[in-house]
Amino acid sequence: MPGRLCRYCPKTFQSSKYQPAQAVCGDADCQRRRRNDYHRQKIATDPEYRQVCVDSPRKWRGRNPDYWTRYRAKNPASAEQNRARQRQRDEKCRLCRLAKNNSVLDLKRSAKDLATRLRRGTSCKQQLSSRESPCIRGCRPPLDHLAAILQTTTLW
Ligand SMILES: [Zn+2]
Repeated sequence: MPGRLCRYCPKTFQSSKYQPAQAVCGDADCQRRRRNDYHRQKIATDPEYRQVCVDSPRKWRGRNPDYWTRYRAKNPASAEQNRARQRQRDEKCRLCRLAKNNSVLDLKRSAKDLATRLRRGTSCKQQLSSRESPCIRGCRPPLDHLAAILQTTTLW
């Protein structure tokens, strides 16, 4: 009996006699991907399932209100690592908000381009006359500030 090709990897496999329509091999990684895909698809299409996914951890937190306090006390290194990563996420979020408020450029897409243009000293007038991203009057100070941040940050 010829094997079936797995949906996620190049392996062939024999489907289970209990699951004749099985489309994914038994490897742990492939099964994890199958479950994750199912979960995402189910959340996207089933409002009741989505609500259960929201309520379940909420109920658990209600039953275990001091779990994270105890965890942080027991694992100070992990807590400190989490704080450092959260500071990085906060800084990245702050920069993204700053960039959106500036309405000049999308920093995610063109952070390097922005830094290059600012290093070259492209003025607002030049940017307006070119076909590049639109610029607003008086944008130099915030852009210079952003460029300085971009050159020193490792978040990108
Ligand atoms: Zn597989």
